[in-house]
Amino acid sequence: MNAWSKRLAVIGGGMAGHLIAHAMRDLMTVTLIDPKTYVEVPMSVPRLLVEPDALPARIPYADFLPGVTLLRGLATAISERSVEVATAEGNTTVSFDYAVIATGSHYLDPLIKATSGTVDERKAEIAAAHRIYRSARRLLIVGGGAVGVEIAAEFVETFPDIKLTIIEQGNGLLRAAPSKFGDWATRFLGDHGVEIVLNDRLVSPAIGLQPSDGVVTTAAGRKIAADAIVWATGIKIATGFVAMCLADAVEADGRLKTDEYLRLQGRPNVFVAGDVTNLPERRVAIIAGQHAAAVAKNLKSLARSDQAKLVPYKPQPPGKGMGRLMVVTLGRQGGLTSLPFGQFRADFLARNIKSKDMLVGRVRKGVGLTS
Ligand SMILES: Cc1cc2nc3c(=O)[nH]c(=O)nc-3n(C[C@H](O)[C@H](O)[C@H](O)COP(=O)(O)OP(=O)(O)OC[C@H]3O[C@@H](n4cnc5c(N)ncnc54)[C@H](O)[C@@H]3O)c2cc1C
Repeated sequence: MNAWSKRLAVIGGGMAGHLIAHAMRDLMTVTLIDPKTYVEVPMSVPRLLVEPDALPARIPYADFLPGVTLLRGLATAISERSVEVATAEGNTTVSFDYAVIATGSHYLDPLIKATSGTVDERKAEIAAAHRIYRSARRLLIVGGGAVGVEIAAEFVETFPDIKLTIIEQGNGLLRAAPSKFGDWATRFLGDHGVEIVLNDRLVSPAIGLQPSDGVVTTAAGRKIAADAIVWATGIKIATGFVAMCLADAVEADGRLKTDEYLRLQGRPNVFVAGDVTNLPERRVAIIAGQHAAAVAKNLKSLARSDQAKLVPYKPQPPGKGMGRLMVVTLGRQGGLTSLPFGQFRADFLARNIKSKDMLVGRVRKGVGLTS
């Protein structure tokens, strides 16, 4: 069997999958399966909600994956050597010698992370949401994690007249971030007039819906004035199709049991990458990129020989080395930065690393695009 005859199915073309398909495009016969026709840089969404055309944040797969078969659809089942895919034209089967599961995670509201469609459809979705939020006098953001905080900061910067509230069911903002970030973000948003409601959650309207009469109700009985809601919460791992077929390889929360070579437990020809893995790491794009590089390296060896010796992957736990890297933007000019040697409330650092273009340039460069 020569290298070209090995078939690779990459399931999910998000922050990990698009890189793996790109790295392997000349070394195996690659099929990329995704319900979208493009990769979107998720980091851009907070900025695009206030300025929909601010960044070239979507890259059609066809622009950087020549020679790769692009199958638009959802994987619905996986077995040892094939994956079933539901497409608009009907169900189809993709056979593989190697596969990568990189189906990532969804948010409750697909506005926050794109789940389907074309670039034009996604642009229209963001623009419609922008119009609604822009015309609100009072906006409620549900979820005080990094996504909710970044969206809040973009709105206070661009639309200071909108009265903003964040509701978070935990006891602080940015609880999964480095230790100093929560206090820094609370101070920044408080200084910009944002009301922060902690230890409480919405009961009306129901999850995912918009208020009908300008008021929402919380579990603690608060009434909060809000014309519109940004649902920046409800993250779910997208591995239902694996659980149906290989239940013993999936944790209760949907994460996939991952071996030391980033393979699905008990499946030596199936790799996993990104948010779907059950490693003790943050679920962030920067880690998904590390997984992609490690998986591509081993797949390149396997393209040469099925018996190749694989290189183990070293997880990057949150408190150590690369695992400490994190930037939470606070608008276009700055933000909070964690590096391996410390945490910084230094705007120039956050601006240069991320806030300026929300990492869009870096992602484009990663697939050889300069503009
Ligand atoms: C608004 C926002 C801001 C963020 N900011 C940052 C940040 O600043 N820094 C950072 O490091 N991380 C950030 N993240 C987190 C980061 O986006 C994720 O950790 C990253 O996208 C995970 O990459 P992934 O490849 O595992 O999954 P994803 O990027 O979620 O990609 C999964 C892909 O799989 C596809 N898919 C899903 N189900 C199926 C199926 N059944 N069949 C086929 N395809 C399927 C999806 O369409 C998608 O293209 C942010 C996330 C959001 C939403």
